[in-house]
Amino acid sequence: MRSKEPKYVQEYWQKYYKTHLEQLRRRHREYNKTRPSRKHRNYTELSRKYRKNHPDRAFAQMMVYNHKIPRLSYCQFGGCDSTKNLQRAHMDYSKPLEILTFCSRHHSLIDRVYRGVD
Ligand SMILES: [Zn+2]
Repeated sequence: MRSKEPKYVQEYWQKYYKTHLEQLRRRHREYNKTRPSRKHRNYTELSRKYRKNHPDRAFAQMMVYNHKIPRLSYCQFGGCDSTKNLQRAHMDYSKPLEILTFCSRHHSLIDRVYRGVD
């Protein structure tokens, strides 16, 4: 979380970005050349791979989609009522219709703490 960093760190990065702007842009352009453009990426292949590697997740996500489960408008993490960057999370993929809504910060926290997922 960049905004949570101490002020001197923020200032360092701001300065860094300003002085290295051209260099960063160039590096970004070079990096983009090494991967297929959005248009040419094979999404069918990617989702097939995903379904193969994470059959439980893919199934749970499909169930959520098919059942049109209504979205909540706030984070369900105790003490947090953020309404921004909301994501839905399965705590247990074998119960595909049981989902919780978290803000992105608490979703990644939940993943790390409860599931050991990075
Ligand atoms: Zn939250």
